[in-house]
Amino acid sequence: MARYIGPVCKLCRREEEKLYLKGERCFGEKCALERRNYAPGMHGRKGQFRRKVSDYGLQLREKQKARRIYGVLEKQFRRYYEEALKRPGMTGATLLSILERRLDNVVYRLGFAESRAQARQLVRHGHFEVNGRKTNIPSMILRPGDVVAVRQSSYNNGYFSMVKELLAERKVVDWLSRDDNRLSGQVLSMPTREQIDVPLQEQLIVEYYSR
Ligand code: SF4
Repeated sequence: MARYIGPVCKLCRREEEKLYLKGERCFGEKCALERRNYAPGMHGRKGQFRRKVSDYGLQLREKQKARRIYGVLEKQFRRYYEEALKRPGMTGATLLSILERRLDNVVYRLGFAESRAQARQLVRHGHFEVNGRKTNIPSMILRPGDVVAVRQSSYNNGYFSMVKELLAERKVVDWLSRDDNRLSGQVLSMPTREQIDVPLQEQLIVEYYSR
C-alpha cells in the first residue's frame, strides 16, 4: 500500500496549479503556490517564459495531476484505467468515477477529513467501518448502497468531536448522503462526470494511455 511521501506542495508547483492537497492551508497565505508560483528545481523559473508544450506533454501532465489529486501511484492508476477501459461508457468519466469511489476519497467528500491525505491516514488508523465491518484499506472501491461510518470506539475521540462541530460548514456531494449525528454516510449512486468537481480533462488521460 505504497504512497507518495515526498514534499506535497512541490506537486502543486510542478503542475503550476493549486491541487488542494493540504486542507485549510491551501486557502491561506501560507500556500506555497501563492509565494512561489513556478515549477520547482533550478530551471523552474525558466519554464515560465519558455513554453511550447507538445500534445504528449499535455497528456502526461493531466495524468500526473489526476494521480496527485487522488494520491494514487502509477501502477495502481494504470490498473484503474484498465478497469475503466473494460466498462461500457466513456472511459475517462468511468476512471474518475472509480477514483471518486475510493474509500479515502469518500471519507474526504463526506467532510470527515480536511484533505484526501488526511482521510487516507484516518482510514489506515482503523477509525472507519464499511457496512458494519472494520476496514483500514483506503483504496477500497465503494458501490451504491455502501455505508461508511466512524467506528463506535472512535466516535468520542477528540478529533471526531471537533469534526462534528465542523460538519455544518462542509457540504456533501449529491451522490452521497451523510448522517451528522451518527458520523456516517452512504453512497447513493455512481457519481456522474457533472457531479465530480475536479479540474481535469480526462480525455487527455485516456489519450495518454492509448498511445
Ligand atoms: Fe498545493 Fe495546498 Fe501546498 Fe498550496 S498549500 S501548494 S494548494 S498543497
